[in-house]
Amino acid sequence: MIVWDLVVIGGGPAGLSAAFAAAGRGVRTLVVERAAHPRYKTCGGGLIGSSLTVAAGRIEVPAHDLVDRATFTLDGRRGFTRRHRAGPLVTMVRREEFDDRLRAAAVSAGAEVRERVAVRALEQTPEVVRLRLAGGETILARTVVGADGSSGVSARHVGVRYRQVDLGLELELPVSAEQQARWRHRLLLDWGPLPGSYAWVFPKGDRLTVGVIAGRGEGERTREYLRRFVDRLGLAGVQPVHDSGHLTRCRADDSPLRRGRVLVAGDAAGLLEPWTREGISYALRSGELAGGAVADGDLAGYERAVAERLVPSMLAGFRLLDVFARRPHVFHALMATPPGWRAFARFCRGRTDFAEMVGRAPVRAALALMNRLPSPRASLTVPSPDPRARASRPGS
Ligand SMILES: Cc1cc2nc3c(=O)[nH]c(=O)nc-3n(C[C@H](O)[C@H](O)[C@H](O)COP(=O)(O)OP(=O)(O)OC[C@H]3O[C@@H](n4cnc5c(N)ncnc54)[C@H](O)[C@@H]3O)c2cc1C
Repeated sequence: MIVWDLVVIGGGPAGLSAAFAAAGRGVRTLVVERAAHPRYKTCGGGLIGSSLTVAAGRIEVPAHDLVDRATFTLDGRRGFTRRHRAGPLVTMVRREEFDDRLRAAAVSAGAEVRERVAVRALEQTPEVVRLRLAGGETILARTVVGADGSSGVSARHVGVRYRQVDLGLELELPVSAEQQARWRHRLLLDWGPLPGSYAWVFPKGDRLTVGVIAGRGEGERTREYLRRFVDRLGLAGVQPVHDSGHLTRCRADDSPLRRGRVLVAGDAAGLLEPWTREGISYALRSGELAGGAVADGDLAGYERAVAERLVPSMLAGFRLLDVFARRPHVFHALMATPPGWRAFARFCRGRTDFAEMVGRAPVRAALALMNRLPSPRASLTVPSPDPRARASRPGS
């Protein structure tokens, strides 16, 4: 029986990046994917600069729009629009096309991809990992990268723990030529009525992706927020091409990234920006680090690299979310100021990350001040961490 050097579970951005990085360096790599590409994935498909940096070296990014304007509203009110004249802020893709190109790139690098194959369970000995497939077949690997998303078998096997769980709801709406012209090159962000929530409109040519995200446990109010948002946009009568929901999970600070020969990357590791819930750049970057670590034969190097390169931004994102959840109106007002807009644009273009931003003295001082002021919206509370995560954390 073949023993693969690397089996990657899941053919999303994280898994295909791991496969691309490892196979490109001569590692005998198999990707097993439950679905068949091109497959739909609930996702805004907004690529910020740090995603483009990784993807553009590998594929031609199938852009449906290049956004250089952003409209901000506060629960539908106090709207204003800003334009970034120096170039696009966010590149809009449809995930089925984007992920399919990543698949082709991984195959070109030498990886084998098997589709419509679901992994049911993992077992490992000190020498090998045994993967049991849905059809009953078993495959063997010296190392595994688990990249099967936020509720997959790999996260369970490694014992990933979460600090924050959110529910994202999304509609893909086919729109008229008039609506297309209205939204071309422009996105909308609405700071929502639920703590830490926001809604978006992302233009994709003849479709708009319209979605909301809020802490889990507020399902009905999150759905109501989406209904009102769509209504306000004048799109209530449009029949969606897709209408779906998905949980996003951000890892606890002490959550493992590896168990023995099995690494986890992307959503499977809970690597996701906690405030924006931007996850594609984390998936691409962590996948690349995982594939590189396998090629180097240094699995512990993956844990160090994630701690150094990705965790600081996540921690800064938790801080921002904490303040934003209590004072969305302050964030809204900040976006209208030149420094606030510049910071937003720099983040979107990948010129800065939240760790660097939050590390600056004026931002640190402003966050500390906002933390001390009494909350103006007494009904609002910070989204609570995932209760299961809390229960599983030592000392809590
Ligand atoms: C509503 C919403 C909007 C979002 N919008 C954005 C955005 O605009 N920009 C952004 O950067 N991020 C966004 N994100 C986050 C982003 O979608 C994820 O972070 C990203 O998809 C993570 O990539 P991944 O490769 O880790 O996992 P996934 O993309 O989820 O890929 C996992 C793959 O594993 C496969 N799989 C699952 N189980 C098995 C199994 N047992 N065996 C084999 N294969 C399996 C799945 O079929 C899937 O193809 C959004 C998320 C949500 C929920």
